[in-house]
Amino acid sequence: MTFDCEKYKSVCGSRCCSCFPMPKKLWEKNKNKAVRKVAELQTFSMKDEERIIVLTYDMLCTFLDYQLNCRIYDDRPPICRNFGNEEFPFMHCPFQHTDGTPR
Ligand code: SF4
Ligand code: SF4
Repeated sequence: MTFDCEKYKSVCGSRCCSCFPMPKKLWEKNKNKAVRKVAELQTFSMKDEERIIVLTYDMLCTFLDYQLNCRIYDDRPPICRNFGNEEFPFMHCPFQHTDGTPR
């Protein structure tokens, strides 16, 4: 088996794609692709890099479209790429293991 979100989207609703602190430059580059309506922008510095939390009204990532696809998939940051990899703490998917077996 392989890790495959398509099998679970109808159940999980891509809930892992919630509002998160992304690099501000990623937001500036891609904000024209935002889908979910922005309620508030919160900026701060972390490890000398400017970060931004793009808060939406439903608390899902602004780049998650209504078919539950990522609008910036090829440009998504490491935290998104690594989600589901159980070698990282706090990155476990509640629905499947890293090898795609169900929980
Ligand atoms: S990582 Fe898990 S919660 Fe996120 S979309 Fe895939 S199956 Fe759903
Ligand atoms: S950038 Fe894409 S993969 Fe990352 S949380 Fe947003 S919709 Fe999900």
